[in-house]
Amino acid sequence: MNCKLSLGSQKSMKNAAQNPKYSLIIPIYNEEETIPELYHRISKVMNRLDGLVELILVNDGSQDRSLKLIRELHQSDSRVSYLSLARNFGHQTAVTAGLNFARGQAVIILDADLQDPPELIPEMVDKWRQGYEVVYAQRLKRKQEGWFKRFSAYLFYRLLKRLADVNIPADTGDFCLMDRRVVNVLNAMPENNRYIRGLRAWIGFRQTAVKFERDPRFAGEVKYTFRKSFSLALNSLIAFSRVPLRLSTYLGLLSAAAALLMALLVLYWRLYQQNSPITGLATIMIAIFFLGSVQLVCLGILGEYIGRIYEEVKGRPLYTVAEIGGFKDSTIYHRTPQQSLISDVRQH
Ligand code: UDP
Ligand code: MG
Repeated sequence: MNCKLSLGSQKSMKNAAQNPKYSLIIPIYNEEETIPELYHRISKVMNRLDGLVELILVNDGSQDRSLKLIRELHQSDSRVSYLSLARNFGHQTAVTAGLNFARGQAVIILDADLQDPPELIPEMVDKWRQGYEVVYAQRLKRKQEGWFKRFSAYLFYRLLKRLADVNIPADTGDFCLMDRRVVNVLNAMPENNRYIRGLRAWIGFRQTAVKFERDPRFAGEVKYTFRKSFSLALNSLIAFSRVPLRLSTYLGLLSAAAALLMALLVLYWRLYQQNSPITGLATIMIAIFFLGSVQLVCLGILGEYIGRIYEEVKGRPLYTVAEIGGFKDSTIYHRTPQQSLISDVRQH
């Protein structure tokens, strides 16, 4: 892997002259209402940055007019390139695709709905110049998000902090700046299950936070339904912690201890007491249901891990690309860690 990375960095040094200094990656799923305002605000920030900037819009299988708007932006502004995934692959995968294609020395990820204010980027760039390889944005407050979302996010990040093997900073999202070295490592990581803020924490290097207040979504509906958020939470817990597996061992030990205690009690009552309090069907039913459910929960936990092993061993590419615009042909290939070839892409 070292060899691969050093080759990559040699190549990137050679290309540095024509490569942009900054890459901004924005995943887009049905964001037709926000794209014009997003471009308006982001282009102001792009003009302020010192160096060549590329804006990579990743269309994640939108069903509305997003792709059309993206194409128009690409035609009117040469700094805008885009790729359009062949279907909806989900936020984390869309961002991964953008990372695979980005060429900048500093790569910035942000959401399309302006909940991650682009105006924070210059501050992140300052930190990068000071020598930090990862600058992540940390939410101080979530404005106008429902109590349930705020409460569940609060609980989840604390739980993750307790359980995960790496220290994933609480209240951070994917909004961050990463140095080319970190992006190279991220791109070389082979796993299919990509929880980017976790992988980013795992990689290490010098990391720091910039604080911000999270604005409400600019327009449109939240694209992360409860189901998607829940599945992201579960994925991250399982990808970064083996504690749930250990939980089944603990549950097993606990119920074994309870069974032993019961056996001793029953024996005692049988031998020394006339009227044993443990009689009848109800007790047996409770014991059966209790043990049955403990076993099912443990099986479920095992299943979660095995399912993910299955996903990983299949070794499928992370995504398929239907159309790209603004990338040179040479950058189309080698993209995913599995070296999958994304062929027959419509180039615009
Ligand atoms: N998004 C995506 N694919 C999806 C869902 C969301 O690319 O399947 C994008 C969406 O367009 C937005 C970002 O991911 O740019 C975050 O989505 P959203 O704002 O709905 O979620 P939040 O993080 O605010 O809950
Ligand atoms: Mg949002």
